[in-house]
Amino acid sequence: MASLQPVRGTHDLLPEEARRARHVSDTGRIIAERYGYEEAATPIFEFSDVFARTLGETSDIVTKEMYTFTDKGGDSITLRPEGTAGIARALISGGLSQNLPLKFFYAGPMFRYERPQKGRLRQFHQIGAELLGVADPIGDVEVIALGAAILDALDVQGNITLELNTLGNTQSRADYRDALVTYFNDHRSGLSSDSRDRLERNPLRILDSKNEGDRQIVSGAPEFDDSLDTESRDFFAEVCAGLDALSISWMRNSRLVRGLDYYCHTAFEFTTNALGAQRAVLAGGRYDGLVEQMGGPSTPGVGWASGIERLSMLVGDGPAKTRPIAIIPLGDAAEEIVLILTNRLRRAGISVDLGYRGKMKQRMKRANNIGARAAVIIGEDELEQSSATIRDLDSGEQHRVPLDDLQSRLEQFL
Ligand code: ATP
Ligand code: MG
Repeated sequence: MASLQPVRGTHDLLPEEARRARHVSDTGRIIAERYGYEEAATPIFEFSDVFARTLGETSDIVTKEMYTFTDKGGDSITLRPEGTAGIARALISGGLSQNLPLKFFYAGPMFRYERPQKGRLRQFHQIGAELLGVADPIGDVEVIALGAAILDALDVQGNITLELNTLGNTQSRADYRDALVTYFNDHRSGLSSDSRDRLERNPLRILDSKNEGDRQIVSGAPEFDDSLDTESRDFFAEVCAGLDALSISWMRNSRLVRGLDYYCHTAFEFTTNALGAQRAVLAGGRYDGLVEQMGGPSTPGVGWASGIERLSMLVGDGPAKTRPIAIIPLGDAAEEIVLILTNRLRRAGISVDLGYRGKMKQRMKRANNIGARAAVIIGEDELEQSSATIRDLDSGEQHRVPLDDLQSRLEQFL
């Protein structure tokens, strides 16, 4: 029955995967705090305008990928496809521009109607960071350094390259756009129909095309650098110098553009070859025009987002789970007292799995299956002496201990 399948492009996070995803977001949060970025959470849905206005009417996200519906009140609502627009909306609606600079970290689900494949889902999860109110290149350097530090802390840097580009200021970007339009118009007939569309509306996006024919034409396209004015060049030079000063290695990719309209100056992507076609692991850039475009005060911004699923795949095994203590009561009298005992141990901070029913053998089997560190067996014998048997499930050693000492003995396994 189709309705009992998960929706295409969605994925259940069962405990092992959930643990890995949690490790990624917790690591991100901890490192972000060290850089002074505090967690913020915006709603997972917004008025559709929040995205339509900021992502640009011509972006892939807006034209093809948004989950948009009309709610019972008649409002057009969209499940957020990315995190920056919501943060910018929060800045405006919450009047936060008094408190600049703002430094936010976020983690949560995003939704895009795309063709699902490995590392590409319709509900996926991102961690991200946004720095609002800093116009200087030091802001770009800091957010990139934060991204690099998180990748380091996750121990995935080995497979990853930082690709860097600049789109320049508004003027340079416009000049480059003109140069591109001239070039692509000369090669119009060779372009895919998608890219011919982009040529009218957002020619920079053609650089991003994955179509083979487009890619060939793109390889001969003019370079950003030829359109950059002095201000744009200086800005980029400072970003590069900052990264060099921090020994963050990077590679220039003069074809790197970000998929969204509001980017200027720095664009960057941490990429990998370890995930097949999905190369981008952590990506971002500067978006000085965004807040103003949404109707707020002119506010510079720079930030990035990273896919938790893609990071999780790189992280490998992730952290080990907490190993519980398995409590195994044998007989009615024991069952009665272990209920209270178990609760007491749990409240004292010990992770305890209670073997509800079944024969000793089955319960021991479950204790092993859940990776219990030790089993506590309480039968009639034990009860008579107000004691319990602790079996170390790694060494097989077994001791009888007074019930009064049980907690402190179990704490030794933590
Ligand atoms: P791509 O080129 O892979 O489509 P993008 O440019 O659309 O990426 P961004 O909007 O920059 O991606 O999102 C930042 C990060 O979020 C990506 O680098 C990637 O790690 C992750 N991401 C984006 N879309 C998906 C998806 N559909 N499924 C899983 N992760 C995703
Ligand atoms: Mg995409």
